Formats: sequence, C-alpha cells, structure tokens
Amino acid sequence: MIEISNLYKSFGNLEVLKGIDEHIEKGEVVVVIGPSGSGKSTFLRCINLMEQPTKGHILFEGVDITSPKTNINLIRQKVGMVFQHFNLFPHMNVMENLTLAPIKLKGYTKEQAEEIAYKLLDKVGLKDKALEYPNKLSGGQKQRIAIARALAMSPDVMLFDEPTSALDPEMVKEVLEVIKELAHEGMTMVIVTHEMGFAKEVGTRLLFMDEGKIIEQGDPKEVFANPREERTKIFLSKVL
Ligand code: ADP
Ligand code: MG
Repeated sequence: MIEISNLYKSFGNLEVLKGIDEHIEKGEVVVVIGPSGSGKSTFLRCINLMEQPTKGHILFEGVDITSPKTNINLIRQKVGMVFQHFNLFPHMNVMENLTLAPIKLKGYTKEQAEEIAYKLLDKVGLKDKALEYPNKLSGGQKQRIAIARALAMSPDVMLFDEPTSALDPEMVKEVLEVIKELAHEGMTMVIVTHEMGFAKEVGTRLLFMDEGKIIEQGDPKEVFANPREERTKIFLSKVL
C-alpha cells in the first residue's frame, strides 16, 4: 500500500529523516516508537504530504505521491490523520465537524454525510454528542470525535501521531479501544505511540526510530523481549 524509499527530510540545516526505506502492506498495524526528536512525526507527516520530502520517493497504492504532478488533496482524502491535539473546529458542533470535508471534498449531500457521521459516532460511542460543541467534550471524547472525523472520508490508511499523549490517564483507554477495534476490522494503520502495552497488543509490526532512521523492526512482542540493537535496548529500558 505504501512504499517508501530513501526518504530524507531536512528543515534548513537540520536533517531530520536520514534515509528511510519501508513498505507498509494493506491490513498492517505498524507501531512506531522512539525517543523524542527522532523524527517520528516528520515521518508520518511526509506520508500524507503535510511535509514535502527533501529526497526520496513515496508510492501510495502504486502512485508516486512525491511527484509534483500528484493531486495532494486526493492523497490526503485517502490518508486519514489523527494528532496528539484533537484539532476539531471549535466553532462547529460535532456533526458539522464530521460532515464538512465529506460534503466539500467528496460531494456528498448533507443527508448522505450525516448518515455516515451518525454511524461513525455510534462506532466511537458518542451518538448522543452530535450537536455538542468541542469545548463541552472531555479530551477522550474529543479524540474519539477526531478519529470519527478522519474515518468519515473513508480513508485507505489511518495515521496516528501520539493520539493519547495529551489525555488524562483515565481517558487513554477509551481512545485506544477505538483504535483497537479499527485494527480488528483490518484498517491499515501507522501509529506513533508511547503506550508500550498497546503497541505490543495491537501492532503487527514495530519500528524503532532514532536520529532519523529506523534502527530496528520486527514483531512487537519479539522486539520488546529481545531487542537486538544497543539503542533499542537503552530506549526500552527507560520506557518499559
Ligand atoms: P518526534 O516526533 O520523534 O519527536 P519530530 O519529527 O517532531 O520528532 O522532530 C524531529 C526534529 O525535527 C526535531 O529536532 C524538531 O525540532 C525538528 N522539526 C520538526 N518539525 C520542524 C519544522 N517544521 N521546522 C523545523 N524543525 C522541525
Ligand atoms: Mg512527534
């Protein structure tokens, strides 16, 4: 589904991604871990072209999205993204948050978009919040709405950048449950997380990033139990 080759990204003189080669297959749940500043967010942002790679290629469903001819908006419709901070539109209620992009970008009628939105609200357990404004919701609820909003575009892949890092501890689980359910349904996902138990349980593959490179990867349970690289060992000894 996604083929990344020789991916580099610099900001001015700062080289953040230093040659990443990675294939992500349909149905994989790839969890990405690594120290702060290692380039995890930049890696995700390159996949949906929120950042333009400095060098290298990314093929998405066979199309080179790093080519200048690519329709960036079409790619973004197929690649859903959920951030650490929920980024809901504060002046719109939940239903409006969920239907804006499908109406504008997919050409759905309001009724079609609302029907889909209600199904997704039901899926994330928040059907009764359709008319609420974001400031009336808890962090966990906002994040579940943000996931529903991304799903409303029926993306082929979902990217999550530390979706629970900004949440109070008691709200982490409700958000992870929603992501877990998506995994069970076969959604292709790339998830940057500090939740090691979740990574182990849900990830079909784990990538450990450090200093702009993928240092080690494998089955999450195996990497946690038997890290091969010294840097992975040091990192895991700090977080496990
Ligand atoms: P991580 O998500 O692993 O913590 P990031 O990808 O956010 O790492 O950042 C990697 C490095 O790139 C950091 O040093 C960060 O300061 C830098 N960086 C990220 N985005 C930008 C940007 N837009 N402009 C300049 N530097 C950036
Ligand atoms: Mg980050």
